[in-house]
Amino acid sequence: MARYTKSRCKLCRREAIREEPKMFLKSERCYTDKCAIERRAFPPGQHGSKKGKLSGYGVRVREKQKAKRIYGLLEKQFREYFDKAKNKEGITGDHLIVFLERRLDNVVYRLGFAKSRSHARQLVAHGHFLVNGRRTDIPSYLVRVGDEIQLKERSRKNQTIAETFEAKKGTVPKWLEIDDKSFKGIVKNLPERKDITDLNINEQLIVELYSR
Ligand code: SF4
Repeated sequence: MARYTKSRCKLCRREAIREEPKMFLKSERCYTDKCAIERRAFPPGQHGSKKGKLSGYGVRVREKQKAKRIYGLLEKQFREYFDKAKNKEGITGDHLIVFLERRLDNVVYRLGFAKSRSHARQLVAHGHFLVNGRRTDIPSYLVRVGDEIQLKERSRKNQTIAETFEAKKGTVPKWLEIDDKSFKGIVKNLPERKDITDLNINEQLIVELYSR
């Protein structure tokens, strides 16, 4: 399972060129003055602080990079989701975002078990969750309507998970449901693009980029 292992704050700073600069790739740190963007709100690298106007192509590339980075994907994985979305009837950009949201690591994050998507990915890969009663350690598993995602009994003693779960109570999106007592989440229905309000991405730009 290939994944990005270098500084996530650098990725975040690279995209810090819009009105809503932060991608919140970490957790508490993103909300404190330790956040790299609070200290250096310009792209990393020798020429990062020099302002230049992006071309139309550049704007589209940056939008795609931002989406990829928010969901913690590499180019090949992201492109596969785009190809799947393109082959479905309807609005490709909407399908793309829905595919990304359906990933198990994202659902674990949305259910409040993890501080960030990368933390969720690690928890899934380490086998902390059951999907429909079966151990599932594949972060890219795409959830379906009716799927039940449950934190394993033994993992409920994990202090980080317990504290995060407590702190994130009440933040579960309406397409998911959580039972606090049994640490079980249910996929009530698949999300629609309009349900994902905290995602500052213009997916149409990504569609335009890949359709060139
Ligand atoms: Fe981005 Fe969070 Fe790092 Fe700040 S702390 S640069 S918001 S990932």
